[in-house]
Amino acid sequence: MANSKYEYVKQYELDDTLLPGCWIVIRIDGKGFTKFSDLHGFEKPNDKRALDLMDECACEVMNEFHDVRLAYGESDEYSFVLGRSTDMYGRRASKLVSLLVSCFTANYVARWPTHLPDTPLRATPMFDGRAVCYPLDAHLRDYLAWRQADTHINNQYNTCFWALVKSGKSPAEAQAALRGTQTAFKNELLFREFGINYAHLPEQFKKGSVVVRRKALVEAKKREDGTPVMRERAVPTVLHVDLIRDDFWNENPHLLAP
Ligand code: ATP
Ligand code: ATP
Ligand code: MG
Ligand code: MG
Ligand code: MG
Ligand code: MG
Repeated sequence: MANSKYEYVKQYELDDTLLPGCWIVIRIDGKGFTKFSDLHGFEKPNDKRALDLMDECACEVMNEFHDVRLAYGESDEYSFVLGRSTDMYGRRASKLVSLLVSCFTANYVARWPTHLPDTPLRATPMFDGRAVCYPLDAHLRDYLAWRQADTHINNQYNTCFWALVKSGKSPAEAQAALRGTQTAFKNELLFREFGINYAHLPEQFKKGSVVVRRKALVEAKKREDGTPVMRERAVPTVLHVDLIRDDFWNENPHLLAP
């Protein structure tokens, strides 16, 4: 139907090409996961099975889209960083966002039974997505620091909140007990009232998940006699490390390279 009289409608499509030379961050976030996590009986405040599922989906996104250099996830969200010079789908925001969201969501559904084998899916998991451009390396680092600081603040609050609720307080009482309190108070409360040493909680809960590619030997194919042929590949690998200080960036200079 090329050049049909209908084709003019194409002109109504808007250009959404993202700025050249900038870092592109695509953040996805679960729709209504407060309710979704409740419906599926997620352990509070952190259900490790659900976090591992999120992490695996992020690895699959990185296996599928090689221009994703780095990902960072917490709770029901994941951020994917595309290199400054990527030309993936002509840097069109709607293409990038929709492909990453659907890749992630399809994997979430497909891999759910492996991570929560005793919990049938009772609702359709959905993720929203947005693309943001950052012109400077400092912006990208601040973006990731912002998300990781958010992980820490939320985790500390939620750990206190659920400890209070599990000890018999109503949600409103727990909220009131924590209103306006500082980090030191919350750590003290956890230790004094519940014997929880915040520093000893799993790194995955405190720091979230960083996905980078690491060289590893993987099975490339099988020989005729059935023995595997191993090849070195860059495999998406989940780490629970600090992104705020300089150490990670000094150890991984390729991540910020052009
Ligand atoms: P929205 O659609 O606006 O994003 P939401 O209900 O998803 O609404 P969020 O701010 O994204 O709100 O919060 C995510 C919710 O999902 C939080 O309540 C969090 O406790 C819950 N959640 C996500 N992952 C887990 C997990 N692994 N274990 C326990 N709870 C989780
Ligand atoms: P792009 O990623 O650019 O969209 P594409 O290969 O998906 O590439 P399309 O123009 O979207 O290209 O064409 C869709 C292709 O999928 C066509 O080749 C079409 O024949 C095939 N296809 C889609 N649905 C069906 C179907 N139900 N039965 C047979 N073929 C199908
Ligand atoms: Mg949201
Ligand atoms: Mg959400
Ligand atoms: Mg969220
Ligand atoms: Mg197509």
